Amino acid sequence: MSSAAAPVVLAVDVGGTTIAAGMVTGTGEVLLHERVPAQRDGVWRTLDTTVELLERQGAAAARLGRRIVALGVGVPGPIDVEAGRVGEHVPHAPDLAGLPLARLLGDRLGVPAFVDNDVNALALGECRFGAGHGARSLVVLAPGTGFGAGIVLDGRLVRGAAGFGGELGHVPVKFDGRPCWCGGRGCLAVYASGRGIAEAARARVAGHPEAPLLAAAGGDLQAITAEGVFAAARDGDPVASAVVDEACQALGAIIGTVVNGLNPEVVIVTGGVAGSLVPLETRILKAAGEYAFARALAHTRVAIVPGDKRVSMRGAAALALYELERQEEDRR
Ligand SMILES: [Zn+2]
Repeated sequence: MSSAAAPVVLAVDVGGTTIAAGMVTGTGEVLLHERVPAQRDGVWRTLDTTVELLERQGAAAARLGRRIVALGVGVPGPIDVEAGRVGEHVPHAPDLAGLPLARLLGDRLGVPAFVDNDVNALALGECRFGAGHGARSLVVLAPGTGFGAGIVLDGRLVRGAAGFGGELGHVPVKFDGRPCWCGGRGCLAVYASGRGIAEAARARVAGHPEAPLLAAAGGDLQAITAEGVFAAARDGDPVASAVVDEACQALGAIIGTVVNGLNPEVVIVTGGVAGSLVPLETRILKAAGEYAFARALAHTRVAIVPGDKRVSMRGAAALALYELERQEEDRR
């Protein structure tokens, strides 16, 4: 079969806990992928680890007779895309701060390399290969530890003037709400990210050792996780239910903001928390209906899709393909 020798792109997804690298075809098939912890012995070694992973993927591509045409890298945080440089604020990969990552990795592999925010890459991946296949306008909302988002309009990624385009996790959903770790107040991330949900639950049960949420965490406040909060809410725990209600309402508010502001064809809710949100879809959509214009919402398909590493590989690959196409357009 001629496709056996089809060229591939290498893809890297830098996450807060793991770094994944893989080999992806132009049709989104993930041929190989590997993931390793982001820290070794408590030290961030994102760059070294990424280089090692890419060298192994490169050797595997050679063994399979696959030509590598480009490399795409998704990094959690704002990126100066034109310079291929990681921003100064990357709490989930601090050793990459300020590095010209595209040049460093591209020189190493001898192929064009492109770096962008991980959820921007995910949005391109969903358009090209995923739940938004064929859509010209799509918004990805990705609650994980933090809250990432990506916007594609008319087939173009919205990056903004300084790379902050699509930072919907730090859009206020409650203007007099709780302070956010970004320095803002009432941000979506405070109510609907994994960190925000866990912190909200901790604040409510602190000093109440009899609270089931705290008891289930062995009395250790820091051991309360978002996953634990969702599970306790399903069991009817009133504190956990209140936190989950707030998360659903906050997601409804941001879907309303997105639908009224952009009216995209598709909104995809994905990321680490999405698995816990699937059973809550009806509630989230009902909340969205409280904020969005009914006719606008009727023309936007909302899908909750649990995140997985293969999808993020496809995102980083889609980023590389998107940028190669942009370069080609510029040359014409
Ligand atoms: Zn914020």
